[in-house]
Amino acid sequence: MKLIFATNNPHKIEEAKAILGDSVELISLDEVGCHDDIPETSPTLEGNSRQKAEFIYNRYHADCFADDTGLEVDALGGAPGVYSARYAGTDGKHPTPADNRKKLLSQMNGITNRNARFRTVVTLIKNGKQLQAEGIVDGKIATEERGNGGFGYDSLFIPDGYDHTFAELGEQIKNSISHRARAMQALAQLLNT
Ligand code: IMP
Repeated sequence: MKLIFATNNPHKIEEAKAILGDSVELISLDEVGCHDDIPETSPTLEGNSRQKAEFIYNRYHADCFADDTGLEVDALGGAPGVYSARYAGTDGKHPTPADNRKKLLSQMNGITNRNARFRTVVTLIKNGKQLQAEGIVDGKIATEERGNGGFGYDSLFIPDGYDHTFAELGEQIKNSISHRARAMQALAQLLNT
């Protein structure tokens, strides 16, 4: 089957391809000719992934899915959550990932409860019907940045069962346990129902 993935991130597409297998032909936004900035105005991951999937479905009337991810920190009431990419932004300016990490470390200064999770919510629209699934990896926020690999908050996130951050663990281990990998596995199950 053909399925539009509402992303242009080649990394995400490769990861999804590896998990969904050859029976699914994934099509990126570029390939479908969508160059819009798709709105993500919901206060929840569920809402944003739905908003992106509906945008694509309404325009192309084709099977599609979208994802949205956030880092949810217990001691911060679930922040940065849906605002993970914009966490350190001010006046509508886009912060760098390094700015976001710096803000997270300062907000967590002196806090002993470091529990957190990465959560990815996927919305699939198949034959006009909407389905959602999620992938979660639980872990802890490190007290300082560790490791050079990965992106975003990887150098601050220590998944449960490991003593190293995602940035130190490397892509192979990360991709075997990550929130996104788990969300893609849940999506694969939805596609088989
Ligand atoms: P998106 O929904 O995939 O664009 O993710 C939103 C934001 O969450 C990103 O800009 C990153 O800051 C953060 N993020 C998502 N996935 C990861 C990850 O695997 N590692 C570290 N940070 C991530």
